[in-house]
Amino acid sequence: MAKMRAVQVPRPGGPFELIEREIPQPGPGQVRIKVDACGICHSDSLVKEGHWPGLQYPRVPGHEVAGVVDAVGANVAEWTAGQRVGVGWYGGHCGHCESCRRGSFITCANLLVCGISYDGGYADYMIVPAQALALVPEELSATDAGPLLCAGITTYNALRNSGARAGDLVAIVGVGGLGHLGVQFAAKMGFRTVAIARGPDKGSLVHNLGARHFIDSQTQNPADELTKLGGARVILATVTDAKAMSAVAGGLGVDGKLIIVGAPSEPLEVSALQLLTSRRSIVGWPSGTSIDSQDTLAFSVLAGVRSMNEIYPLERAAEAYERMMSGKARFRVVLATAG
Ligand SMILES: [Zn+2]
Ligand SMILES: [Zn+2]
Repeated sequence: MAKMRAVQVPRPGGPFELIEREIPQPGPGQVRIKVDACGICHSDSLVKEGHWPGLQYPRVPGHEVAGVVDAVGANVAEWTAGQRVGVGWYGGHCGHCESCRRGSFITCANLLVCGISYDGGYADYMIVPAQALALVPEELSATDAGPLLCAGITTYNALRNSGARAGDLVAIVGVGGLGHLGVQFAAKMGFRTVAIARGPDKGSLVHNLGARHFIDSQTQNPADELTKLGGARVILATVTDAKAMSAVAGGLGVDGKLIIVGAPSEPLEVSALQLLTSRRSIVGWPSGTSIDSQDTLAFSVLAGVRSMNEIYPLERAAEAYERMMSGKARFRVVLATAG
């Protein structure tokens, strides 16, 4: 039997282990992907630290997968070997729960998550349900495509469904893995884009990414500054700091919407009066399905949006993960899986 490399987490809190195992075979409705690259996401810590209820170990993490269809199982009509594909957080839906019956697959009660419900992309090969596949355009390399399949879709899909229209004031809070993509998407969608980050060093970067305004939350009050600019139609919060999120809510304009895509462990604090007097709202946004991923990739080609990545080989996954968790990476960390 041919062997492959995989990087698994043996138990909650356990170390990453580089192992060899047999190359798996796709069952009915599944395809096998030969992985070319896999981005490392902050959510991979759910696997590493055991924070996902019911997760079965050992588990191979990774839900920013880009590769090539390598083998196709029975009853898969729409994909063939050799196609370039990607898989993100959405890893398949059940088709029979109430959300699925209403056509909302990302809120499926039995949602499969790539790298959590089954082994993900920290490996040479992986098996996925065909419904989880997104087509990767020729113009994108595998390492370009990887981060767009979680950090990219999350910000792109939240913004395009936000209700903001061309010319509206849209603020992105946080200029990290998600935020540096959010700024690019917002600018390319035609919004008057504001980037909010801590410290002055990101000012010139965000202007290069397309932001019209930069607010340094260390020296300025972001809510006051947004209000001076007319109040935001949408604020996309990509940070994992509840205080930073709470601090911007006052910068929403009439009918403004604070969209949460980062996940702080602490609760948010907002003024009820601020919400009700100007019909402001706070909502969350859960990435999207495989066709949303495909749209994200296609738009990124169309508009020239790219993630800035630090690349590591698969066998240095542990080091790459630590780099991502340190918050110092500029801005995503991607495993390139040659051979
Ligand atoms: Zn992710
Ligand atoms: Zn379902």
